[in-house]
Amino acid sequence: MWRRVSVAVLLVAVTGACFAQERPVKPPRGAIVLFDGKDLSKWVSRDGRSPARWEMTSDGAMQVKAGTGDIMTRDEFGSFQLHIEFNIPAMPQASGQGRGNSGVYLHGLYEIQVLDSYQNETYAKGGCAAIYGIKDPDKNVARPPGQWQTYDITFIAPRFDDAGNVIANPRVTLRWNGVLVHDNVEIPHITAGGIDSKMRKTGPILLQDHGNPVKYRNVWIRPLKD
Ligand code: MG
Repeated sequence: MWRRVSVAVLLVAVTGACFAQERPVKPPRGAIVLFDGKDLSKWVSRDGRSPARWEMTSDGAMQVKAGTGDIMTRDEFGSFQLHIEFNIPAMPQASGQGRGNSGVYLHGLYEIQVLDSYQNETYAKGGCAAIYGIKDPDKNVARPPGQWQTYDITFIAPRFDDAGNVIANPRVTLRWNGVLVHDNVEIPHITAGGIDSKMRKTGPILLQDHGNPVKYRNVWIRPLKD
């Protein structure tokens, strides 16, 4: 009897987990949809003017088209809550930073790394969900390549005095596949590859073209009051 019940519970749990990763999370009230699977109208190339040249896929995602460059939102945001889903292709011949590399840059300045970290070693602070070069996630909860994964990010913008000096560094909280891996972590400096050399009050969301065909879908943002 109990065995039958526990098998049933296990089955429900496994099925639920599968659905959880396959089903896009619905944007909440007040969210601005940045990508809904239809077009790239909210996005431009890294120069801020020319159209984003990534590919639209038949499964309603946008995909890095190697060599076309980073893309970023037309609009800028201060503090916000961001939801983004990503899918890393299987690249068994590649390793380290060459396997499924992309990235989500907050304000265009602070990279939350996207990488295949399922069975792929790389250097410290460089794996998936790392605040690149600053801090590793508290846990590695990477899913295998080919599966959808989620980032739920709360970003608190830096604060400045009247003279423009930074008086409070930005902070980030990240849930990766629903697991808290950064809890209100201070970001002391910008990371490599950003769009500016110093912190700013607002900035775009930038997605990195690192040459690997990573897909993104269901991107929404909810601005927060500073
Ligand atoms: Mg990257």
